Amino acid sequence: MNGLALSDVTAGYHAEDLVLNGVSLGVPKGRTTVLIGPNGSGKSTALRVLCGLLSAREGRVELDGEDVNATPPHERVRLGLGVLPQGRSVFPSLTVRQNIELGAWTFRRDRRGRRRRVEELLDRYPVLAERSEVLAGRLSGGQQRLTEIARMMMSDPDYVLIDEPGAGLAPVFVQDVYEEIRALADEGKGVLLVDQNVRKAMTLADYVYVLELGRKRQEGSPERFTEDLTGVVREWLRIE
Ligand code: ADP
Repeated sequence: MNGLALSDVTAGYHAEDLVLNGVSLGVPKGRTTVLIGPNGSGKSTALRVLCGLLSAREGRVELDGEDVNATPPHERVRLGLGVLPQGRSVFPSLTVRQNIELGAWTFRRDRRGRRRRVEELLDRYPVLAERSEVLAGRLSGGQQRLTEIARMMMSDPDYVLIDEPGAGLAPVFVQDVYEEIRALADEGKGVLLVDQNVRKAMTLADYVYVLELGRKRQEGSPERFTEDLTGVVREWLRIE
């Protein structure tokens, strides 16, 4: 089956604890799937299992029908998975261009192919093109985030995992970042978005999963969630 998926996955960091307990979810191409839930419910752990930083103990981790649970992270990038981690991850003393090019380090594209891809991405993001030789540490937070998105795009992923994209950004930049995420899904990528900013995430969501204590509590279309969230879930999600 096409898509990125967890199927009955259990996972944890220590032998005695289970942080994910039988979680199943699917991320189809061309859609934005949003994963929400209270702090500590296992959202980031689910992303780690999907990108290969943590192995599932039981269940399947599927990328277009293949079980990739034993596949290391850089191989998953080669298979079509992109990751935008939480927090700042640009190298401040490298230029914007160098930061973007680093997105291909696992890819071993030939140098000319790599350069061509950087040019394509600079064409796509004119704000970065204007600053391609500037040290990334001198950019605004929003431009740094865009640099990180461009770096992720070096491998032209089919699926992207995005963790708290607006965290730490001034509100003025947050909307731009969400617009870019929308564009990724519009051009056919499967987006999995983990977000504490539930209102914002709901504006992009095609489908929503709610985790609680490592289990899937609910799933459905975003309309359903805004209409019949229980009081408890409303409180978690900070929806008045
Ligand atoms: P969320 O992203 O929903 O806030 P996490 O996946 O970060 O939740 O955390 C789920 C649980 O796993 C929490 O109880 C947390 O303490 C635990 N946890 C997260 N990361 C680690 C780690 N590196 N080592 C041990 N326990 C962890």
